[in-house]
Amino acid sequence: MDILISEDLRHPAFDRLAGKFSTVMDATLWKNDAGLQSRVSEARVLVVRNQTQVTAKLLEAAPRLIGIGRVGVGLDNIDVAAASRLGIVVVAPLNANATSVAELALGLILALARKIPAADQSTKAGGWDRRSFTGIELDGKVLGVCGFGRIGRMVAGRARAFGMRLVVFDPFLKEDSPALAAAGAALCPRLEDLLGHSDFVTLHLPLTPETHHLLDARRFEAMKPGSYFINTSRGGVVEESALMAALQTGRLAGAALDVREVEPPAARTAFETLPNVILTPHIGAFTAEGQQRTFEAVADDLERLLTGRPAVNFVNMESPKR
Ligand code: NAD
Repeated sequence: MDILISEDLRHPAFDRLAGKFSTVMDATLWKNDAGLQSRVSEARVLVVRNQTQVTAKLLEAAPRLIGIGRVGVGLDNIDVAAASRLGIVVVAPLNANATSVAELALGLILALARKIPAADQSTKAGGWDRRSFTGIELDGKVLGVCGFGRIGRMVAGRARAFGMRLVVFDPFLKEDSPALAAAGAALCPRLEDLLGHSDFVTLHLPLTPETHHLLDARRFEAMKPGSYFINTSRGGVVEESALMAALQTGRLAGAALDVREVEPPAARTAFETLPNVILTPHIGAFTAEGQQRTFEAVADDLERLLTGRPAVNFVNMESPKR
């Protein structure tokens, strides 16, 4: 077998690949450790989104594997160090869906500020309650951007067009970074300072051991009273029980979550019942354009690898070393 796809990743770009290479797609394989381990032993490339856990153990069971295609951004489900050690190329089109995620983040900020989902529900139920749906303007408000990479910068540029003032927390950024100057943003060396000053806080950092539960009870207590919280990065960066408490005590005015600690969530929580909470099912990258770019880029690179050519959107090495 040339290509093993272990999640539901149907797309014309992959149909094209399947016409050229022997391909197996099993949408439920990611849930079946033993099955995955057995099938991957025959595969030359493995294709995943974010459900398959690509561990060192799995990769060690795959002697023929030369490449892993990640349909999307965020490498927290792939042991890239193990892939590198084994000489396996990891491909991920990191730029392909940044615009889509940035636009969703802006949409959520606007939806929170103007209570759009709750107003929609109330009006469709026959109401005409204008006073309850008094919102706030973005103009002049402070947006705190945590993680100032591809997506954080795009969000900042778009928020600036709405007249927002920008502060940034990113420990890997220098104060004289041209990206900060271009966005007219000020760097906060301490996360607590950003949290205390921002009317809206939006997360755009990767999930790593350092960022796991970065937003915990102490950090939510540091947030400006009446501020809003938006997460379109990774659910594990936020301790959900602490966010819930900050919403229930009224410290936060609202929150929007595209990503959750467990996806899909194992059980319903109080988030679903709060009118000032907006929930979306990890759709940051799900636009026609974002998906098209992502699938095409992964398919192109897998074809390159399978025909002995170097990958373009690689994150560790351009050609396999095995
Ligand atoms: P990126 O690598 O370009 O930027 C991440 C930034 O975070 C970098 O500037 C880095 O310096 C910074 N960072 C790292 N550790 C940090 C820390 N401890 N504190 C603060 N900043 C830190 O990544 P990106 O492409 O902008 O993606 C950002 C996030 O968005 C990732 O978590 C990714 O998984 C997520 N994402 C979500 C969706 C979705 O569907 N909702 C889609 C794509 C990406």
